[in-house]
Parts: sequence; C-alpha cells; structure tokens
Amino acid sequence: MERLKCVRCPLGCILKVKVTKSGIEVEGNRCPRGEEFALQEIENPMRILTTSVKVLGGALPLVSVKTSGAVPKEKIKELMEYIKSLEVKAPVKIGDVIEKNILGLGVDLVATRDCDER
Ligand code: SF4
Repeated sequence: MERLKCVRCPLGCILKVKVTKSGIEVEGNRCPRGEEFALQEIENPMRILTTSVKVLGGALPLVSVKTSGAVPKEKIKELMEYIKSLEVKAPVKIGDVIEKNILGLGVDLVATRDCDER
C-alpha cells in the first residue's frame, strides 16, 4: 500500500494506493480525478517544473520560469541541468517563451515574471 497526496486540486486528498494484478485500488479520493492521479503517479509521474534562468543585462540576475505543462518526473534532473546552461537577454516579459519545446518534451519554458534591462 502506497500513500500519495493528490495534487489535482487544493483539497489534497491523501490516497492509499494498492497495485493489483488487474490495476490499482485507490481509497481516500473524494472525486474520480484522484484515481486518475494515482494511476499516472504509478505509471508515469509528471510535474510542472518551476525554476529560474540567467538574465544578461537585466535588473535582476535571474528570472523565474516554469514549463507550460507537466513533464515526466524522470526528466526533471536533465531539464534542470539544461536550464542551468540557458541565458536570456533582458528585457524579459511575463509569458515570454524562453525555449520552445524544451528538450523535445512538447512543452515550452515560459517566464513567470518581468525582468527589465539594467
Ligand atoms: S481526489 Fe479529487 S477532491 Fe481529492 S485532491 Fe484529488 S482532485 Fe481534489
């Protein structure tokens, strides 16, 4: 029996998940999305990555970014290494795409705040 916290809504139900021969059994979910979440967590956990990117000539040295959608949890380390190597020129506006289809994962890396020029 595995315990997971559902993150599909702010209620954060604590799920008890049991893997069986025919699939999974889930308890503790207050709606069907909890079961979907548990299945995905067992088969292919996904996360939205939030981090920051270096800014050249910016009023701030870094600008916060996030992926435009969830990426496989197993790719997070590789993504973090890659994002560390990125640099973007100021000014940066919230919503700017820093890198399209990052690492071919089908999501973009997007700025989540503004950064003016120095
Ligand atoms: S199981 Fe449903 S109600 Fe509970 S946290 Fe997940 S989405 Fe929200």
